[in-house]
Amino acid sequence: MSISKPSGAEEEYFVREEAARRQREALENAKKIEQAEREAAKKLHHMKCPKCGFDLQEINFKGVSIDKCFNCGAMVFDAGEFEMLAGNEDTNIFSSIVNVFRAKKVT
Ligand SMILES: [Zn+2]
Repeated sequence: MSISKPSGAEEEYFVREEAARRQREALENAKKIEQAEREAAKKLHHMKCPKCGFDLQEINFKGVSIDKCFNCGAMVFDAGEFEMLAGNEDTNIFSSIVNVFRAKKVT
């Protein structure tokens, strides 16, 4: 006596596997699109003024290179550059601005 395969359960298994595979593909696709969009945005905005869209130019100020827009006057700091400039002098407006954004210390 032969045991017949439970074809219903088998079919269900393959449908489930196929659905899981398609879901993985969709997620991978979404990730690829997201990454491509991020790269395109980066390319589009790289060294462009965030305020007016003009080309930014690198200037050196107190050993820190700042990206400056000569169209609207905006200055763009990389991470840590602002703090570096603020650290050069004790009591200036830079220091107080940096302190505003610095995480509060628990006293
Ligand atoms: Zn600008």
